Amino acid sequence: MPTTADADFYGLDRLLDDAGREAVQRTREFMIKEIEPVINRYWTREEFPHELIPAFARLRIAGLAYDGYGCPGGGPLIDGMIAMELARVDPSISTFMGVHSGLAMGSIYLCGSEQQKQRWLPQMASMAKIGAFGLTEPDVGSGAAGGLTTTARRDGDQWVINGQKKWIGNATFADYIIIWARDQQDGQVKGFVVEKGTPGLSTTKMKDKIALRVVQNAYITLDGVRVPESDRLQNADSFRQTAKVLRLTRAGVAWQAVGCARGAYEHALAYAKERQQFGRPIAAFQLVQDLLVRMLANVTASACLCARLAQLQAEGAAGDEHSALAKAFCTVRMRETVGYARELLGGNGILLEHQVGRFVADAEAIYSYEGTREINTLVVGRAITGQSAFV
Ligand SMILES: Cc1cc2nc3c(=O)[nH]c(=O)nc-3n(C[C@H](O)[C@H](O)[C@H](O)COP(=O)(O)OP(=O)(O)OC[C@H]3O[C@@H](n4cnc5c(N)ncnc54)[C@H](O)[C@@H]3O)c2cc1C
Repeated sequence: MPTTADADFYGLDRLLDDAGREAVQRTREFMIKEIEPVINRYWTREEFPHELIPAFARLRIAGLAYDGYGCPGGGPLIDGMIAMELARVDPSISTFMGVHSGLAMGSIYLCGSEQQKQRWLPQMASMAKIGAFGLTEPDVGSGAAGGLTTTARRDGDQWVINGQKKWIGNATFADYIIIWARDQQDGQVKGFVVEKGTPGLSTTKMKDKIALRVVQNAYITLDGVRVPESDRLQNADSFRQTAKVLRLTRAGVAWQAVGCARGAYEHALAYAKERQQFGRPIAAFQLVQDLLVRMLANVTASACLCARLAQLQAEGAAGDEHSALAKAFCTVRMRETVGYARELLGGNGILLEHQVGRFVADAEAIYSYEGTREINTLVVGRAITGQSAFV
């Protein structure tokens, strides 16, 4: 019986041009050859594979969403498909890239002056320098728009920043951390590029996470950190600009959710064909096929939704609500899909060596970061009713 093992069931890769398909293939080969065989060891030890970064950088996939400034470019569709491809093998690696190429580079691309983009983006596109994005605080998560307590005070040609951040991915080793802080004078949220080693900046790795254990999340303390005015993102004068960055990156997280679900589905399908019970492969049982088809439907529906969102982004027609709907929908479907995959593997579903357990755990973080399901639902709810229900 011929089989269709490809989880790209509706052939979305045909929407890419040859260069895009080649980039996907290159990335897939790297992830399968270099990352998959070793990632469980890093996950268990809560370590990041720094030694693989030079090879990773050669894929030239940082800055796919941006034009110019040394970025490879290509647009939202290839950017999203690459995010999916990374998460399909490992959601931590895809999160690392989401923070670097999406949140950090995106903040500079969308909120920096021409001169600032020329200064920082080329070295970030080549991954000679790595970025982080500090918005969330210990006491302020979903309510960041109005509730940030980290402050910035202008002092001549400098700014003095005080406060704390929590959950900041890549921050333990990043060269540039984008810090969002409230200007004490006008009360508006502004963005600052804080360089590694700046006096008063300290980062502490968060330990014992049960998800995305390879990602180095950090608590940050900013104690009288001095940043020159030239390192304040010149086009970020309120949270509206921060929201523009999140609009871009929430679409990327939706693609990551598709990748996480797809990876779990593909492992489950392979397992179902191999694993024998009652004298036949479990893939031959109707109830197992039901699980597989539910998974494939989730992956396909989510990927199609993301592909259409990418087209809207390319036209400049995507609003906050379009990214928010994709983030909320795809992460719900991801969580369901990884659960089905775990179920299909029976006891082996909780063993790291069978990969699916890692996807189950990592899905929990993707489900909550960059706006929980509730917050993204409220963004969409506001758009369709005209009523804000946040508070
Ligand atoms: C692994 C990981 C990586 C992260 N990386 C980064 C990073 O690099 N940079 C960064 O700045 N942040 C990062 N975050 C933070 C992340 O964006 C926040 O966790 C997220 O925004 C939710 O905030 P919170 O965890 O404080 O939850 P809370 O805001 O405390 O929410 C708790 C619960 O209350 C619900 N809730 C809150 N307000 C409402 C409301 N108005 N109506 C209904 N329900 C509501 C939420 O949906 C949630 O279920 C990361 C988080 C994780 C877990």
